[in-house]
Amino acid sequence: MNIIFLGPPGAGKGTQAVRVCERLGIPQISTGDILRRAIKEGTPTGLEAKSYIDKGELVPDSVVIDIVRDRLKESDCKNGYVLDGFPRTVAQAEALAGFAEIDKVIDIAIEDQKLIDRLSGRRVCLSCGGTYHVSTLGGATTCAKCGAELVQRADDKAETVLSRLSVYHAQTAPLISYYKERGKLAEVDGAQAMDDCFNAILNQLGA
Ligand code: AMP
Repeated sequence: MNIIFLGPPGAGKGTQAVRVCERLGIPQISTGDILRRAIKEGTPTGLEAKSYIDKGELVPDSVVIDIVRDRLKESDCKNGYVLDGFPRTVAQAEALAGFAEIDKVIDIAIEDQKLIDRLSGRRVCLSCGGTYHVSTLGGATTCAKCGAELVQRADDKAETVLSRLSVYHAQTAPLISYYKERGKLAEVDGAQAMDDCFNAILNQLGA
């Protein structure tokens, strides 16, 4: 099954995508992770993307569309995949329709204030991708999975969070009606407990 996870930054797309992909045995394709890796490796794409990401703006459509088009050609995608963080604009969705057949779009919906709390307390492991919240870390500063240092993403700083949310409302939220009109949309409450959200998603996927 080819699935899109839609939703504002901090809704839990990444966390839920990892779990759903494990359960279904399909790859998670996160454009944010791919771009952060490119930045770390200092590739030309990474250098171009960094200035946008640090400001909370979207990386140009052409850059992310090429990334996803190439990634979907890899053999592990032949039995399905979860797109996490792509598409983020109507132009990206239209381009995607030209090279992929999407079965279901899961919109993880949650109000802005909850997102601000979640994002500003988020800490991530740049080594293995583990994600935590300060409220559950009990003062720990290293990753429970791999032991690497936990950091706050530059784009999780308070002022950048606000601009990411306004970018989401202006550019990504229109995808909700885009996919609703095409009969592909299912909404899940992103404010509920993580396990409940996971079960609601599986339910919507009929998995
Ligand atoms: P994420 O990890 O999905 O929150 O993405 C982090 C940042 O990467 C976003 O704030 C954007 O700057 C950039 N990014 C990720 N996916 C896309 C996309 N589909 N289109 C444009 N920019 C993206």
